[in-house]
Amino acid sequence: MVTRSLATCQTKPCQSESWRHSLAASFTDVAALLESLGLREADIPDLDRATPPSFRVLVTREFAALMRPGDPEDPLLRQVLPLALEQARIPGYVMDPVDDTAADRGHGLLQKYAGRALLIATGACAIHCRYCFRRHYPYAGLGSAAARSASALARIAADPSLSEVILSGGDPLMLADDQLERLVAQLDGIGHLRRLRIHTRLPVVLPNRVTERFCAILADSRLDAVVVIHANHPQELGADAEQSLGLLRRAGVTVLNQSVLLRAVNDDSTTLGQLSERLFRCGALPYYLHQLDPVSGAAHFQVSDQRACRLIQTLRQQLPGYLVPRLVREVPGADSKMPI
Ligand SMILES: *Cc1c(COP(=O)(O)O)cnc(C)c1O
Ligand code: SF4
Repeated sequence: MVTRSLATCQTKPCQSESWRHSLAASFTDVAALLESLGLREADIPDLDRATPPSFRVLVTREFAALMRPGDPEDPLLRQVLPLALEQARIPGYVMDPVDDTAADRGHGLLQKYAGRALLIATGACAIHCRYCFRRHYPYAGLGSAAARSASALARIAADPSLSEVILSGGDPLMLADDQLERLVAQLDGIGHLRRLRIHTRLPVVLPNRVTERFCAILADSRLDAVVVIHANHPQELGADAEQSLGLLRRAGVTVLNQSVLLRAVNDDSTTLGQLSERLFRCGALPYYLHQLDPVSGAAHFQVSDQRACRLIQTLRQQLPGYLVPRLVREVPGADSKMPI
């Protein structure tokens, strides 16, 4: 599928490149983001004006456009705003809360569970979520993408117990379609694989990343494709995201969503219920609702297990079973995500 006519690209802006332009226009500066929302720095108590360069402010224009102007407590804004609280050392909140280091099979291939392995396809993301459990992941130590994927692919090919590969990151859709096409073709050629899963937030925060070519790559693969998006609040799923998820569905892709339970973002049953309804409308089913991984810098998002269980109970009373996500936590060393 390298064939989508190059001539088209020369005569009008190439669809497969327009997302790069969108990405380049992202907010990398909290003052500019606040200004676009009609807010002043003084409106945000505890704002951290000097975020560390290792996990700087990064927000796409598309995501910012879904925020409510003038609302310092907007649930989307809250997910990306750096607070001074992040710098506090809090017992139990660590750099690598899910013990990725122990699961690393070398070169960015993580295996924790039977039958599936997770490939860190890239360290880059289009948005920096302040609660991210990989916010301190040593991406820089991964080596070059090409060397990494060669070695990871060799390991996958040598392990017939694997039926599924998960592309994760970072965000695998930060790779160009060319790179993804090569990677998918290589995975396609590994006979014991049956499924390809992609964990990505880009259909939500940069919907035009879901190009026709990307959909065609998945549709043409022998592997059954699953795309797991990441949305935490119904407001994140605008008309553009709905359209992009529609493209994936029409390409035969199964679309699921995972959310993180976040204090003052989505820790109420009305919001979670509306999220499930909105996801279904867009063609996605709720999969996991994660209890926050205790990553250093994210303690202010934590919701208690007791409260989390009550929320799920309420959802069960209000929604069909298929719209109730599984409430789980990742326990280092466990052989699956653990139900709570
Ligand atoms: C979360 C995770 C998976 C996926 O688990 P599922 O329960 O299949 O969604 C796979 N590998 C690793 C390393 C993970 O962290
Ligand atoms: S998109 Fe995912 S990997 Fe990237 S910062 Fe957000 S939570 Fe972390």
